[in-house]
Amino acid sequence: MNPAPLGWEDLDGLAVTVLRGVGEARRKGLGELGIDTVADLLMHYPRRYVDRTREARVADAVVGEEAMVVGRVVGVESRRTRNRRTMVTVRVSDDSGRMTMTFFNQPWRAKQLREGTVAVFFGKVDEYRGFKQMTSPLVDLVGDRTGRIVPVYPQSGKAGLMSWDIAAWVEEALRRCEARGIADPVPAAVLAELELADRHWALANIHGPDSMAAAMKARTRLVFDELLRVQLLLLRAKRKREAESRGHQHHPGKLVAGFVDGLGFSLTAAQERTIAEIAADLRRPIPMNRLLQGDVGAGKTVVAVATLLAAVDGGHQGALMAPTEVLAEQHHRGIRDLLAGLEVADETVLEGRRPLNVGLLTSSMPAAGRRSVLEGLAAGGVDLVVGTHALIQEGVRFRSLGAVVVDEQHRFGVEQRAQLQTMGGGRTPDLLVMTATPIPRSAAMTVYGDLDVSVLDELPPGRTPIRTEAVAAGSLAEEAMWAHIREQVAEGRQAYVVCPLIEESDKLEVASAQATFEALTGGELQGLRVGLIHGRLKPREKELTMDLFRDRALDVLVATTVIEVGVDVPNATIMVILSANHFGIAQLHQLRGRVGRGEHESHCYLVADPEAAGEGEPAAARLEALVATTDGFELAEVDLDLRGEGTLFDERQSGRNDLRLASLRRDRQWVLRAREVAASILDADPGLADHPGLAAEIDWFESHGGEAEALLKG
Ligand code: ADP
Ligand code: MG
Repeated sequence: MNPAPLGWEDLDGLAVTVLRGVGEARRKGLGELGIDTVADLLMHYPRRYVDRTREARVADAVVGEEAMVVGRVVGVESRRTRNRRTMVTVRVSDDSGRMTMTFFNQPWRAKQLREGTVAVFFGKVDEYRGFKQMTSPLVDLVGDRTGRIVPVYPQSGKAGLMSWDIAAWVEEALRRCEARGIADPVPAAVLAELELADRHWALANIHGPDSMAAAMKARTRLVFDELLRVQLLLLRAKRKREAESRGHQHHPGKLVAGFVDGLGFSLTAAQERTIAEIAADLRRPIPMNRLLQGDVGAGKTVVAVATLLAAVDGGHQGALMAPTEVLAEQHHRGIRDLLAGLEVADETVLEGRRPLNVGLLTSSMPAAGRRSVLEGLAAGGVDLVVGTHALIQEGVRFRSLGAVVVDEQHRFGVEQRAQLQTMGGGRTPDLLVMTATPIPRSAAMTVYGDLDVSVLDELPPGRTPIRTEAVAAGSLAEEAMWAHIREQVAEGRQAYVVCPLIEESDKLEVASAQATFEALTGGELQGLRVGLIHGRLKPREKELTMDLFRDRALDVLVATTVIEVGVDVPNATIMVILSANHFGIAQLHQLRGRVGRGEHESHCYLVADPEAAGEGEPAAARLEALVATTDGFELAEVDLDLRGEGTLFDERQSGRNDLRLASLRRDRQWVLRAREVAASILDADPGLADHPGLAAEIDWFESHGGEAEALLKG
């Protein structure tokens, strides 16, 4: 009998010291790179490849074109330029001629490229005083490795581990795996249908491909593996949770219908569809765990209220948690207005009915009001409560919490939303989390893969689109912008001015907001009624200023990004964002969403520092995207393209190193396929009993802090 192929746990059972030449010092060095076992080593993928079939001799490199040359360093010089940048000049020679490589602001190149070093240089060839040269080329040290495609590994200079050392060990490990082979836990039918390579082949070819095409094919297979593991873990966790928790079976009825009928408008098709999706979840005994993605102004509040009322309809309570006091208060006011006139059954009163009661709970409330809300929640007199984190603090009890909505969910941790879900006593309340920061589908499936997703992708009719303009600071266009604000104010409208974002320090940001406020009131906005709001104000002060603005006692509100989320003043028609080049797409889109909420046409000005506005600048591309569209989903795709997915994971405070090869951007299609495959496998085999290889593997990855675990933990 042949010995069984090597599973992932087998490879993980072998310490790197089984490899030739790995003694204590190298073991430690590898450990610093996160490589302890043969499995780790095989997953230490090349960062890129040097395709030596494209190598040119120095003599043949064409000026004006890109080229790859391999040469030996024959001279290194380091000096400071007039504007105090370091400049390292490296002279390189091959048997056909010499070329100069110039590096600016990379002083370490002098150490890396010592005389005698052989390296690969890739870049555009130009000419300086008759000599060929490259400026800041890509450099790879490949040692004496031969072969047509040379893998370049992330290496560690500190640990003295070079790319070629790693390549040699990987080669040895793969060679020694050949006898038994490496197991492939993915069903052959899936591989055949998706035209994916076998895993052993893929591992061999990601490390030592014969051609770039083979390397790409190998990559695709390994990308699929990463994504499939993530999806299996997320879906398995979701189904497990569903199987274990007991929820309410709600029956959205008269109350919800009465609410919808009483709205002064008819629902958009997207709202109807979403409310129906939610209603179907609510009727099931399994607790809902749903994400509602909807652009700013898409009308999420109506959907949230319909959800909460479904619980109230059956005699339970509903809670909405917002990230800030300003938002909670605004939601409370808005929801109370929306529900005015609705009644609920109550056997403790003579009439058997009483008005539906909407409470507010924040930590800055006066003690008496707070106590009365807490009593109402415990006794059942408060049907619906809106609040901040105060909702999940000690001492809050519900008589029967049936449904929970979390607004702007990215502001909360996963634990916080889970905490709210434990407050229903014996049964788990249904949960809807809402976000106005749409993320692309592929990303939602990975970052929020343990939730179901509904999308509000339609704005209510009658909105006048916001006109967006990018303006260079200090230009005539900027002057025209301030003039436009004065005109709009003269017509009774209001404006926001958002101050430069200073990430390093809250304190600096406040100082800069103050300075902006003073400069504007003494200059461009002299004579107007201008307010200032920032994160260091006490909640009371913030609220006071917001109230003044809402009541039109202020014309212009100068603010830091504290106004980013949810603030709703329909009479405000101008949004100015200063130093807009420092903001990300999602944040700019959020800020812009503060205007365009009323009947008047609105404008958004993105004021950028002139030097950031140049062609090819990432900031310029971001601003351009905002000028081009107001569709948040479209912007989310652009954002993913421009930035990559790292930031998506930040939202859930988890590591980004979990997906080593897969990119949610580049591999979108594979995310969807992996999701489908995971679902179909789990449909047929929920416990993965018939897929022991997969089960062992995802358990292994989970217990080793691998890819999806970080996602799940949030
Ligand atoms: P968001 O999704 O940003 O939370 P809101 O729920 O605050 O959006 O809704 C924005 C505005 O649109 C509110 O004034 C709300 O009353 C209004 N609105 C919501 N749905 C509709 C609709 N179907 N038709 C017209 N107006 C609507
Ligand atoms: Mg909202």
